[in-house]
Amino acid sequence: MNKKIAIIGAGFSGTATTVHLLRRHGHAPFEVILINRHANLARGVAYGTHSPWHLLNVPAGRMSLFPDREHDFLEFARNTDGSITASDFVRRSLYGEYLHTRLDQAAAAAGQARLNVVTGEVIALRLDRDGAVLDLSDGGTLYADRVVLAVGHYPPIDPPVPDHGVLAGTNYVRDPWAPGALDHIPLHQPVLLLGTGLTMVDVALDLDQRGYRGTLMALSRHGLLPQAHRTLREMPQLEPPAELLAGAASARAYLHTVRAAVAASAQHGRDWRDVIGALRPVTPALWQTLTKNERRRFLRHLQAYWDSHRHRTAPISAQRLTQLLAQGMLTVDAGRLLELRPVADDIQVDWQPRGKSRTEHWRGAALINCTGPESRLRCLADPLIRGMLAGGLLTADALELGVAADAEGALLDNAGQPSCVVYYTGPLLRARDWECTAVPELRLAALRLADRLAGTW
Ligand SMILES: Cc1cc2nc3c(=O)[nH]c(=O)nc-3n(C[C@H](O)[C@H](O)[C@H](O)COP(=O)(O)OP(=O)(O)OC[C@H]3O[C@@H](n4cnc5c(N)ncnc54)[C@H](O)[C@@H]3O)c2cc1C
Repeated sequence: MNKKIAIIGAGFSGTATTVHLLRRHGHAPFEVILINRHANLARGVAYGTHSPWHLLNVPAGRMSLFPDREHDFLEFARNTDGSITASDFVRRSLYGEYLHTRLDQAAAAAGQARLNVVTGEVIALRLDRDGAVLDLSDGGTLYADRVVLAVGHYPPIDPPVPDHGVLAGTNYVRDPWAPGALDHIPLHQPVLLLGTGLTMVDVALDLDQRGYRGTLMALSRHGLLPQAHRTLREMPQLEPPAELLAGAASARAYLHTVRAAVAASAQHGRDWRDVIGALRPVTPALWQTLTKNERRRFLRHLQAYWDSHRHRTAPISAQRLTQLLAQGMLTVDAGRLLELRPVADDIQVDWQPRGKSRTEHWRGAALINCTGPESRLRCLADPLIRGMLAGGLLTADALELGVAADAEGALLDNAGQPSCVVYYTGPLLRARDWECTAVPELRLAALRLADRLAGTW
């Protein structure tokens, strides 16, 4: 009988793994069962949006599914609009169309391999014979010889502060990505956005597009906004600073080397973004060389700055954000949330400005959690993840950044032994690689996993 590979999740990661399996190994007889919670395949959280303000935050020339055909997405995008260039930041919904098209094409062109799409939610997984049985929420079960968790992003968890009923109320938006989450936000009253990263930018621009004319306050520990991408005519060719890999492996040493490289490249008229971009291929190696304590130091002291410089906004989004700031429609504060309480129909938020001992009070109509996806497995409510954790099939890394997995994505058990049956691909690989969030990294993880799966029989 043909081998079966179940892929749970058809966002970017599950779709990319399927496409690579079918294109690279589809001459062999096997079946890919691609299971997604909803029928909207190849979109996931990132590319399911229809807002024209939701742009890719990576230029079109770097968004190909295929590492060896760098302009594949660009060519697809040019078929819709011939003026698009490699350095353009196009709408995210177009990227969803691209993924779906490449999935259909890979399925149609596969030799003996077959794609079987299942709409449903996997709620439990147990090992059985040499494979695994998956339980679906509709009561169905599936057997597969190999299973890939491509379950992607989980909504943020609630802020851990004394709460007097706000978090259970309708003025609180727990998950800004849930369909219709922003529909009831009053367009003329103050709204607090908790978080100042890319999710906050998306939410602020989305509200702006809906005609919001109140005042938005964005609050995070450091109050750092994502930096903006430049508008470029050509994609820069990038070389990582050689001293980084050769030098001491500490958060402080990395910081000094990168700062020195930025200063040196500025003398040659180059932008700091080129240095940050050049770190991309070596980031996993740099991360893996750090001890646990050094990683912890990086997370405590540098992560907020890293995120703001590494995860940047498209130039046009940054321009609109700057206008909102200049018009006073958006303010950004650094501080700590202390307490939430309902006051009449409003919310009152007590917060402490960074480095100060005083308490400030904010009152407004809604609080939107923009703190970004949650990656601590033990905090997730998802039944599949909870069951796998309890059964020892899935473990978190020591710093709780994601899942413990080997170099190709096989899940590691508590003793560090790789599974022969269950694999993971997606953003929770940041436990291993630090950066595994965007397409240029995720496509490599998906490709390596596809090759590993095909090599297991
Ligand atoms: C808002 C946003 C914008 C982004 N923009 C960019 C960008 O412009 N460029 C870039 O490179 N990266 C971007 N990213 C990064 C993003 O992580 C990746 O590009 C990629 O989309 C992640 O895909 P994924 O498949 O791993 O996860 P997801 O997109 O979250 O997909 C996971 C899928 O699995 C399904 N699923 C989960 N659990 C189950 C289950 N138990 N049973 C069945 N189905 C299940 C979900 O319903 C979902 O469809 C963005 C991320 C976000 C959140």
